[in-house]
Amino acid sequence: MSAPALKQPPQTAKPFLPYGRQVIEEDDIQAVGEVLRGDYLTTGPAVGRFEAAFAKTVNAKHAVVCANGTAALYMAARALGLGPGTKVIVPSVTFLATASAPYLNGADIVFADVDPDSGLMRPQHLADAIARAGRADAVFNVHLNGQCGAVEEIAQLARRNGLKIVDDACHALGAATVAKDGSHSLIGENVFCDLSVFSFHPVKAIAMGEGGAVTTNDPQTAAQLMRTRNHGMTRDAAEFANRQDAFESEGHPNPWYYELAEPGFNWRANDIQCALGQSQLAKLDRFLTRRRALAAAYDAHLAPYAPRLRPIARHRTCLPAWHLYAVLIDFASFGITRAAFMRRLAEEGIGSQVHYFPVHRQRFYAERYGAAKLPGADAYYARVLSLPFFASMTQDDVARVAHAVRKILAL
Ligand SMILES: *Cc1c(COP(=O)(O)O)cnc(C)c1O
Repeated sequence: MSAPALKQPPQTAKPFLPYGRQVIEEDDIQAVGEVLRGDYLTTGPAVGRFEAAFAKTVNAKHAVVCANGTAALYMAARALGLGPGTKVIVPSVTFLATASAPYLNGADIVFADVDPDSGLMRPQHLADAIARAGRADAVFNVHLNGQCGAVEEIAQLARRNGLKIVDDACHALGAATVAKDGSHSLIGENVFCDLSVFSFHPVKAIAMGEGGAVTTNDPQTAAQLMRTRNHGMTRDAAEFANRQDAFESEGHPNPWYYELAEPGFNWRANDIQCALGQSQLAKLDRFLTRRRALAAAYDAHLAPYAPRLRPIARHRTCLPAWHLYAVLIDFASFGITRAAFMRRLAEEGIGSQVHYFPVHRQRFYAERYGAAKLPGADAYYARVLSLPFFASMTQDDVARVAHAVRKILAL
């Protein structure tokens, strides 16, 4: 019996535009295929190759690649000793993982407010959070949407108060900041922070399926990060403490021997993921250029409707690497709820998403730490919506989205 003929979609149906997605090309598939035909599926040569290429891309001395961005955040928290008895400041408008990682490592979380129009933590918000905390040990700064804020001022304030700085750069691969002296530095280079964390989830700038990385300029921190991602164990003879069991009588290390520094997880990224990551990394500049052009096109379509509908505020000293295209909509003034607006967009074949429900308002944290008053985070959250944005979109796609937005809002 033959299979029934596939029903063709009507000619007029336009493809659904998700808020974000990966762009995979034939050479990406080939790179993965080569690993599958080779000798190593994991802990093989593709891992170190990708790490070297990634470190070079962001101008860091070391990159330690791992299972995902959340694991990378946890590894960063552990490397900085942010365990029980420490306090970590996290801006409230971010993905859960920015807070979960230090929390799960034993730290207490203090939420900071953000600018209502950009979603970025400003120096004053950090100062307020430090004052509320009494004393803090670190700040995890978030480059929301691929935009970095006042990183130089935040670094100065953090250093004055004895805080370590982790950049949650999961949105910001390829972004750069312009310092007061006019010099550019890449996010990930760690000029204004101690460690930077990246994610290679499919909606991020490059895709590995799942994947993440921490960058550092300190070789000892890199070695510790590598231990943390691999059970907390070491096979490096120079690190062995138990010399009697580690070495044979001739003084050579026993070939089977490994030693536990402290228990860790298996958070390795495998060769399949890393081959995809490296292939994608080679396209980063092209992807970024496309994303910047798409953002400019959206701006041109939507800027005339400010302030009720407006692109998010831009930070002067940042060369952004747009990860999301977020707009701020005063939904009440249009007489529509955000949920209804999203449903209407979906009917037009257009996806959208909210980044993010402020983490300080999650009941888990509100019950533990009391409901902090963060009006900037609330005001940003009330209006924000991410429109479709990915590197294979066209200018026509952007025009289609902008047209639908205007139609639904009767603009
Ligand atoms: C994606 C993301 C993470 C987590 O990364 P995963 O790879 O999904 O674990 C953390 N923080 C931010 C800001 C993110 O966007």
